[in-house]
Amino acid sequence: MDVGEDHPPPLVLINPRILERSDELETAEEGCLSIPEIFGDVERPLRVLVEALDAQGKVFRADVTGYKARAVQHEIDHLDGVLFLDHLSAVKRALLVAKWKKARKGKKGHTKEVTPEPAGEL
Ligand SMILES: [Zn+2]
Repeated sequence: MDVGEDHPPPLVLINPRILERSDELETAEEGCLSIPEIFGDVERPLRVLVEALDAQGKVFRADVTGYKARAVQHEIDHLDGVLFLDHLSAVKRALLVAKWKKARKGKKGHTKEVTPEPAGEL
């Protein structure tokens, strides 16, 4: 992770897990390189305490706040199969996905709807 802050980049977090989350929440706009060109406001804890292995395999803890805490949570969500869209309301998510599909139609990375094969015919 490289958010352009004080920690020498990149911040390497191997098998990270969040040990503590602040009660104080913050809402900020997020986007994602996995689903470019769409953005949404996501509420997350302002501060997290994360434990991980560093690039040398040594356990360390990082107490992060603000934008760095947001990035840590966003990236750990990816490891759990969660996108920032999953933190939005169903209506907001559907609107953004529709916008993304429209913007990406015909381009590389376009989402093509397919009908699943009936069971037993694979
Ligand atoms: Zn992402």
